Amino acid sequence: MLLSRYPRVSLAHLPTPFEYLPRLTEYLNGPNIYVKRDDCTGLGTGGNKTRKLEFLIADAIEKKADVVITQGAVQSNHARQTAAAAAKVGMRCELVFEKRVTDASSAYMESGNVFLDKLFGANIQEVESGSDMNKEMENISSALREEGMNPYIIPGGGSNSIGALGYVDCVFELIGQANTMNVVIDTIIHATGSAGTQAGIVVGAKALNSKIPVLGIGVNADKEKQEEKVYQLACELSDFMGLPGLVERNDIVANCDYVGDGYGIPTDEMNEAILLLARQEGLLFDPVYSGKGLAGMIDLINKGYFKKQENIAFIHTGGSAGLFAYHDLLKT
Ligand SMILES: *Cc1c(COP(=O)(O)O)cnc(C)c1O
Repeated sequence: MLLSRYPRVSLAHLPTPFEYLPRLTEYLNGPNIYVKRDDCTGLGTGGNKTRKLEFLIADAIEKKADVVITQGAVQSNHARQTAAAAAKVGMRCELVFEKRVTDASSAYMESGNVFLDKLFGANIQEVESGSDMNKEMENISSALREEGMNPYIIPGGGSNSIGALGYVDCVFELIGQANTMNVVIDTIIHATGSAGTQAGIVVGAKALNSKIPVLGIGVNADKEKQEEKVYQLACELSDFMGLPGLVERNDIVANCDYVGDGYGIPTDEMNEAILLLARQEGLLFDPVYSGKGLAGMIDLINKGYFKKQENIAFIHTGGSAGLFAYHDLLKT
């Protein structure tokens, strides 16, 4: 399989490092913990959406778009990376935010990712929680067409087959690094939301016949709903890549026990996990995704889910810009 068959623009600093975390490993007295530093993709403070945007923006350019439209929560990391990518290729960027978090602080509404979106010159519209976000994007698209523009809609999280190619690429890169370092990865773990990351990783890992199980830690939906969403996208992606039937339903595993009260709502375990990684390894994780993913990984290690001699690879999907929006909610 040749990813270079797909149109792609260079937005990310690649390859991202793959590093061992010796102090965290010792502290938890569990398996060997490695981290894939996709927080270091470089674009507008980095994160996992940049890999997806390399393929999505290339598709927008092929279709001669002059404006991209996307949607997310107010503190969407995806929106921030899309705003930066659009600026870099000279396109206009329209963002639609769903006010998913109620009683949000002014930091949440204005700092962190939102502040950066504005720096990158994106236009922002906010709609109420529960709005049909695809319809909202369609409405903006129609209005822009009437103005004579050529809009391109990027789905929430950049999660369609084109975007998920970015995570097929990531797992190829990761497996190459593990081979060079002579590390047998026993499990890949990461935070899962709009599903593109997990779908891409599972498809890439299977396409290489790596036999590495992938565990998504949910931040939003319940287990059944999350796994079904990832499975649907993984099937679409494998069809799109000419590998129909590659993914089976039981290749998709999500653990949604660490969501807490809901999307974007802090949990004590997430806060502890963020403090631990900051103090043991000097690394920054985010409150909405990677912090909850870590909380899940740490709890599973403490419960003996992994053997001590195993090697686990946590994909750091980024999001540290969101920390500033949560500074008044997090214990330091
Ligand atoms: C979007 C995001 C995720 C989840 O990735 P999906 O492809 O949406 O499942 C994880 N971590 C961070 C920091 C993100 O911004």
